[in-house]
Amino acid sequence: MQYIEAKSILSKLQGNDTMFGLTYNMNLYRGCQHGCIYCDTRSECYGVGDISQISVKKNAIELLVKEIKSKRLRGTIGTGSMNDPYMPVEKELEMTRKAMKVIADTRFPVHVITKSDLVLRDIDLLQEISKVYAAVSITITTADDILAKKLEPNASSTSARFKAIETLAKNGIYTGVTLMPLLPFINDTKENIRSIVEMASDAGASYIIPMLGVTLRKGSRDYLYQSFDKYFPEMRNRYEKMFGEQYICNNTNYNELRAEFLQTAGRLGMPGKMKFYTPQTGKQLSLF
Ligand code: SF4
Repeated sequence: MQYIEAKSILSKLQGNDTMFGLTYNMNLYRGCQHGCIYCDTRSECYGVGDISQISVKKNAIELLVKEIKSKRLRGTIGTGSMNDPYMPVEKELEMTRKAMKVIADTRFPVHVITKSDLVLRDIDLLQEISKVYAAVSITITTADDILAKKLEPNASSTSARFKAIETLAKNGIYTGVTLMPLLPFINDTKENIRSIVEMASDAGASYIIPMLGVTLRKGSRDYLYQSFDKYFPEMRNRYEKMFGEQYICNNTNYNELRAEFLQTAGRLGMPGKMKFYTPQTGKQLSLF
């Protein structure tokens, strides 16, 4: 682990974010300890390199305090796209907790994506932020703990993630599931989709956002194939033949999976989209 100096901490998203309704992105760390075999952060285009080497942005909180006050648009701050804000190192460093405190104090909305039940530690702050808007999306790719250990070796188990959803929901936090990716021939079964939607509903999730297939680029593809060699020996060949250098790798049973999701989610009244915070400008900001 190393400490680095960041130039800025809140980056404004270009265009409309139709999936999560984000206005800003925040990454307090560089790299991620969860080790998911399909992780897009390994793509060479990002230049992160070995993502298991964690860099901590030591001036992140200082920058956040400064930048957040200068924003004229109060819009949702998203965290969790390039790394997991609740990866193991967060337990000790509390960078995310400190950032949540700043967000709560300045009354900005937030959206967290995580695969860790460490998020439960910050329920107090999430409840405070919820007075404006707070959403926690827990990513779940498989209902099976054993398969999850192969796909996401250092993240919380699937059972622990569902337990976290239950606790967050019981504590009044707007919580849902991001069901992605669905790796062709690995976790892309109708049974898996049905189980995840049913378990999410039982846990009290308010939404499930599905994204079928997986995206692969130079870097992320190489790592995935090396992991296949370890756990799913026949998959490298299968993927190479079917997808070549393709960025979007779709499930061959796409239509069946989509129908299963719509049918199960419909039966349980589970929305496939989340509610967004509407960004506020001008005078609104002076109220706080
Ligand atoms: S939790 Fe997210 S960022 Fe971290 S390794 Fe997994 S996919 Fe990558």
